Amino acid sequence: MSLVVRCLTCHHRARWRDVGAPEPVEVLQTGGSRRPAIPHELAAWRVWARSLRGELGPVVGRCPHCDQPLISEQPDGPSPVSWVLPTPLGEVQIETEQIQLDGEVQDLASIDERLEAAMAPRFSPRSLFDIRNLFGGVFLLILGVLASLWVMAALFLVRFIIAVGVQDNVAIPLPP
Ligand SMILES: [Zn+2]
Repeated sequence: MSLVVRCLTCHHRARWRDVGAPEPVEVLQTGGSRRPAIPHELAAWRVWARSLRGELGPVVGRCPHCDQPLISEQPDGPSPVSWVLPTPLGEVQIETEQIQLDGEVQDLASIDERLEAAMAPRFSPRSLFDIRNLFGGVFLLILGVLASLWVMAALFLVRFIIAVGVQDNVAIPLPP
């Protein structure tokens, strides 16, 4: 039975003859140039976690271009492969039925939480100067300038109204 596999990272998509025959019969989309923006292991884990939760089809191999998990598009098709993921917490062994961290069986929710906490990129002050954040920074700056101009205009108007009010109330002696 042939199956269609795809890589969520680099969009490689191919038709395989079988799970055990990872030579593509037909490449449906070449892909291959895109790389994960987050750490490689975290990207692979996120695909695995979605697959294990049933949001994606089973993982049936490694992408020949970017080494990320390849997903089968047939959700109830082949059984997934096993995977060894080196992480800051230790070696995570992912099997069809269970996940182990250094030989200890883990449940999906808790290991997911721990891996995310250990590997997800945190905010760093340096990212403020990142060129990708420049647009947002300039936009905020313009908003800030507009807001302060508005406040200044409002204050000016208030002072003007008060001044006019005071002037009206001053009794100007009429000439006899
Ligand atoms: Zn790929």
